[in-house]
Amino acid sequence: MKKILVIGSFGQIGSELTPELRRRYGNSNVIASDLCVKKGDSSIEDGPFEKLDVTDPKSIAEVVKKYKVDSIYNMAAILSVVAETKPQLAWNVGVNGIFNCLEVAREFDCALFTPSSIGSFGPGTPLDNTPQDTLQRPGTMYGVTKVTGELLSDYYHKRFGVDTRSVRFPGIISNVTLPGGGTTDYAVDIYYEAVKSGHYASFLKAGTFLDMMYMPDALNASIRIMEADPSRLKHRNSFNITAMSIDPEMIAAEIKKHIPGFKLEYQIDAGKQGIADSWPNSMDDSCARCEWDWKPEWDLASMTTDMLKAIREKYAKGLMK
Ligand code: NAD
Repeated sequence: MKKILVIGSFGQIGSELTPELRRRYGNSNVIASDLCVKKGDSSIEDGPFEKLDVTDPKSIAEVVKKYKVDSIYNMAAILSVVAETKPQLAWNVGVNGIFNCLEVAREFDCALFTPSSIGSFGPGTPLDNTPQDTLQRPGTMYGVTKVTGELLSDYYHKRFGVDTRSVRFPGIISNVTLPGGGTTDYAVDIYYEAVKSGHYASFLKAGTFLDMMYMPDALNASIRIMEADPSRLKHRNSFNITAMSIDPEMIAAEIKKHIPGFKLEYQIDAGKQGIADSWPNSMDDSCARCEWDWKPEWDLASMTTDMLKAIREKYAKGLMK
């Protein structure tokens, strides 16, 4: 039976990964954690919770010892847009954080998952069908932390045998917790605004293609890679994975099938556009498909139907203003 620690369990992904892990492995076997206590949150109500700062190695080690943790999901990060204004914090959480997790994983023999991102690519990377193994010279602070995390994770695996595995997430689209300041946030906001006001002003321009994925696929990928047969893994940190390559026009067209009057406008944010332009249009995820049978289940049409239904319910219940 696994004992899993989730670091950053209040975030966009952590808030859905924690209950999914508890559903699969049992509530008491999944320890949720984040910087502060959020009263009434399901990750606190439904199982163990610990206050934990990933930049403080002692606090990670104490929780790992207390619960005899054997697997760590390190979801703490400062996302791309925020990292551009807080580079020191981004380094501290993104690099010192993973370094601390790796050291604890080495000492207590834990497996470790720390997601990387499409943001680990940059100028010079082939933009279309971006290969698994290619040039990674990101032009953002976020990207610098992600490439460093990938390198450190591979180093700890090769040098010390730590069971590190991870994926390069594309933009994640979801309806439980709002995203935390990334370049792909528009692809979540557009659904909320479609339901609320019937129109949306995108900060990325038409024709900006980026890889995206619906949250259930992201959760499956995170769990499946940690359960994969290690003898099949030629790569470790980190696997390209994607479900769709889309631009704002494509999402709007799909939303219009449900809300015919929906209007998409543009208010381009030069900073965010610059980041998006340096990221792949579409990634080649054939290594993940071959080495651990990665396969997405949601496409743009099925995701849009589900997103709009869930968000309408949130507004109807008064959970959103
Ligand atoms: P998020 O910003 O929504 O959540 C991060 C969580 O980490 C928050 O709950 C925050 O309180 C917590 N945190 C911040 N500093 C911390 C610290 N010092 N100690 C402990 N916890 C701390 O991020 P997310 O979208 O859930 O992303 C999770 C992971 O997936 C990150 O590594 C991110 O880079 C990666 N990723 C996300 C996306 C996406 O679209 N959401 C895409 C690519 C990669």
